[in-house]
Amino acid sequence: MATVHVLNGRQKKLVHGHPWVYGNEIERVEGTPADGDLVETVDFRGRFLGYGLYNSHSLLRVRLLTHDRTEVTEELIRGRVRSALRARQVVLERPGTDSCRLIYGEADRLPGVICDRFGPVVVLQILTLGMEKYTGIIADTLIECVQPECLYLANDDRIREKEGMDCYTREYFGTLPEPLRIEENGIHMQVDIRGGQKTGSFLDQKANHLYLRQFCRGARVLDCFSYAGGFALNAAVAGASEVTAVDISEAAVDLIRTNAELNGLRINAVCQNAFDYLREQVRQGAGYDVVVLDPPAFTKAHANLENACRGYKEIALSAMRLLPAGGVLATHSCSYHMPEETFLNTVFSAAQDLHRQVQLIDLRRQDVDHPVLAGYPESHYLKSVWLRMLD
Ligand code: SAH
Repeated sequence: MATVHVLNGRQKKLVHGHPWVYGNEIERVEGTPADGDLVETVDFRGRFLGYGLYNSHSLLRVRLLTHDRTEVTEELIRGRVRSALRARQVVLERPGTDSCRLIYGEADRLPGVICDRFGPVVVLQILTLGMEKYTGIIADTLIECVQPECLYLANDDRIREKEGMDCYTREYFGTLPEPLRIEENGIHMQVDIRGGQKTGSFLDQKANHLYLRQFCRGARVLDCFSYAGGFALNAAVAGASEVTAVDISEAAVDLIRTNAELNGLRINAVCQNAFDYLREQVRQGAGYDVVVLDPPAFTKAHANLENACRGYKEIALSAMRLLPAGGVLATHSCSYHMPEETFLNTVFSAAQDLHRQVQLIDLRRQDVDHPVLAGYPESHYLKSVWLRMLD
């Protein structure tokens, strides 16, 4: 087995549980590992740091699978899949819930492996070359434990090309039922696995969708960047007097309409750029009691942080202008590169600019089936800020 020597100073995060070694953190490689091979990783003094998967094509040159001498075997991988599944039981036992993330990559110590359950279907995505060779083991363990109707390989994320892999999707087992309907906290939702965003739905927001309900009875609710309408549907179920959902994607707006109908709910679905919609609503002097903002990641790199803040601030400003005293704003950032404190300060600064006082109701994150691994801050990506306007 080849040995990767990590530069002095770069060992600390690895000792603390971080799974990534970047190319520029490597002092030298002893031996000639092939891409996807297991390597031993040591610090500058030769002290063992863990076994990991090597890929010369990736900026993330090594992804650690262990931080001790535990041998990496097929049984280890199987065990990790099984323990990830056990940890999800609590989510699947929620009333009216048949869908959740089953494997969340590095946080479940399966680097680059993403797996979601949508009712009777398991969607598996392998994003790292080193894990590709375990596809069969992972898929078969999932089939054995979950017993789905279909296991679908959604290996079409462009990240795979950077890892030196091809992009494809196929049914590994069974046939994908179409249309596919899932249940989230008692709400029926249609999921588009072949053409949808992410692996098909935004499971990370389930708990926040539910949390929204308490603010919605009799309320006028605006859900911006709505996708399939997760927030909007929960608002309607909770007895909102009117619900508007806005998304720029026509496919998303179709999904919202389908989902509203499936549940016998009334939602006004608008296909528009939410930045423009918010501005127009302000100009027209519209008012809402609850506004939800859940935009896509404005920044995928630290360098764009300032621009991202401007974007988050602009929509927060508009939303606050629509909210009277007592109104509730839930605003989100799903970019790891936006630190929670920076995001919070950005939202607070919008209130300050408007000379409005606000209360922080809650600071939330992604649902528990997207666990945060200690020592790996990248696994905490979703920030969810809930505010009440005081005046
Ligand atoms: N709120 C959703 C997830 C939103 S994902 C949920 O809880 O499930 C972000 C959504 O923003 C995507 O559906 C995308 O189509 C939409 N989007 C991206 N840019 C937009 C824009 N400028 N205006 C409105 N929607 C936009």
